[in-house]
Amino acid sequence: MCCTTTIENDSTNVHPTPAHFSLNACIFYSCIKQPTPTSETNARRPSSPPNANTMDLRRRLPPRPPSTTFLNQQKAVTDGEDRSPSSTKAGVIDRSPSPVPKASDALPLPLYLTNGIFFTLFFSVAYYLLHRWRDKIRSSTPLHVVTLSELAAIVSLIASFIYLLGFFGIDFVQSFITTARGEEDSFVLEGEVEHHSEPKPRIMDPLPSLALASEEDEEIVKSVVCGSVSSYSLESQLGDCLRAASIRRQALERTTGRSLLGLPLEGLDYDSILGQCCEMPVGYVQIPVGIAGPLLLNGCEYMVPMATTEGCLVASTNRGCKAIFASGGATAILLKDGMTRAPVVRFATAERASQLKFFLEDAINFDTLSVVFNKSSRFGRLQNIQCSIAGKNLYIRFTCSTGDAMGMNMVSKGVQNVLDFLQNDFPDMDVIGISGNFCSDKKPAAVNWIEGRGKSVVCEAVISEEIVKKVLKTTVHGLVELNMLKNLTGSAIAGSLGGFNAHAANIVSAVFIATGQDPAQNIESSHCITMMEAVNNGKDLHISVTMPSIEVGTVGGGTQLASQSACLNLLGVKGASIGSPGSNARLLASVVAGSVLAGELSLMSAIAAGQLVKSHMKYNRSNRDMAAIASTV
Ligand code: ADP
Repeated sequence: MCCTTTIENDSTNVHPTPAHFSLNACIFYSCIKQPTPTSETNARRPSSPPNANTMDLRRRLPPRPPSTTFLNQQKAVTDGEDRSPSSTKAGVIDRSPSPVPKASDALPLPLYLTNGIFFTLFFSVAYYLLHRWRDKIRSSTPLHVVTLSELAAIVSLIASFIYLLGFFGIDFVQSFITTARGEEDSFVLEGEVEHHSEPKPRIMDPLPSLALASEEDEEIVKSVVCGSVSSYSLESQLGDCLRAASIRRQALERTTGRSLLGLPLEGLDYDSILGQCCEMPVGYVQIPVGIAGPLLLNGCEYMVPMATTEGCLVASTNRGCKAIFASGGATAILLKDGMTRAPVVRFATAERASQLKFFLEDAINFDTLSVVFNKSSRFGRLQNIQCSIAGKNLYIRFTCSTGDAMGMNMVSKGVQNVLDFLQNDFPDMDVIGISGNFCSDKKPAAVNWIEGRGKSVVCEAVISEEIVKKVLKTTVHGLVELNMLKNLTGSAIAGSLGGFNAHAANIVSAVFIATGQDPAQNIESSHCITMMEAVNNGKDLHISVTMPSIEVGTVGGGTQLASQSACLNLLGVKGASIGSPGSNARLLASVVAGSVLAGELSLMSAIAAGQLVKSHMKYNRSNRDMAAIASTV
């Protein structure tokens, strides 16, 4: 599995050339395990929308205008009207101004009067004509000889018949009623909104970024603005996520009077985020993705995607990768792999809380508790239970393996199983919260720093003296001294919690965003202690990063979205690992640690060489050719 790596003899040209890269890319792809996308994988991955095909097909169809029933139903909700099936059917006739003329618009009268007139007309002229027909047969008068009153009756009969057909929504007849303007509207629905819509009265003046909506959409936008349609319900009401986002966005612009020009709307698969990643979307933020690498880690090469808007970061990490590559690569070791969740439960006395603590920590009970915990997942496996007491309150920290998922949902379900089970023997246990912050998720906490959470990884490399000089432009002694005074002593003086590093959070955040991780977990995932030591008679540099709580997954959450999934694919860790569940997520954690190692090496070197401000001025303040700059850093 592991590959051998060619190191350029000329250390001044250690960074891979294009030819070198293509060779490396081949090695890379042969090294990493590519999960074969099978139908089974897809079937097992709940993150894929269950009806993805149907959803895609639906998106390709022209957007469906909301039925008048939809609008009437919305009105009914606000008016408190009865909308039983029968009344709803009647309610299809909406007297409010409509973009498409309806039969009920025939007379400028209230609906009930219009209906009454046409119904009466239809039956009375029908009766009159039948009567006349019988008379003509009796008097042997030819049927085609008609008087003026009979002619008028025939015209009235046809007119009222057409009205009644139109009233009951018979499309063929309605198409005759509909004017040429109605035909234009169908083009509007196909998307040529700007060219066919007429200016409509608006609640606020349209903002420049607003494309004029179709008239049907315009009605819905107005309903959202006035509050008769809930913004959050647009997706379910319309069955078209892009259209829902567009309508919500226009309503937002009108209610706030602020333009969203620059925030893209098109280009995101809104179906894929529905019910999973983001509610009430109005667009998406673009974050550039840069590539650092190849990162030579455990004998394999990885091109690391980094989503960031911080100039210098990718270039700097890339330089670190270059130094690691030229020195023979880095080694990452996974120390631990377990996600945690810690509910808080309360008893009437501290004594009872202690009894539960002893019960949970007694090895005899572990097997029973495991069976209960594990029943809700194929991948969640209970590893450990650790308790902490505060008075009569008990905090129970469950740790479990979670396969390729980051695992918060999985561990929470297992914990709920155990709490339900414990209620039998401890009926006086009051569950205060499924999370009692002893977990500890998305907050700086010593428990994660000491015990670990997610993946605990240590990563090391030996950088030769020559590379430190030629690539990093500094000295081994300078780096070791700076590390001691900045990352260790300086952070100790600052009272840091897990922050014994130069900028681990920079790399962690960028890789997290690119690969669909939860960016809020950057807090504990960036806990890192960077160590540097002179080795080989003081000539070379040993550098390591120890990161106890890297929380990553390759299934679930944002990992299934197209862009993030592409970045995972680049690293060869997309989705669930079929052969060895959990190995994709573990590899991703190792790549994160390796990238942090590269980032630490480069930034520390820049500081040691007094280059930091200079290079930031180059990268953040100028528009010079980045490739040229990168080669000089
Ligand atoms: P999380 O627990 O990180 O919030 P999700 O619950 O969103 O993640 O996704 C995990 C889901 O993915 C689970 O339902 C699990 O059954 C499924 N799954 C499929 N393959 C794997 C795998 N290899 N590892 C972990 N979970 C997997």
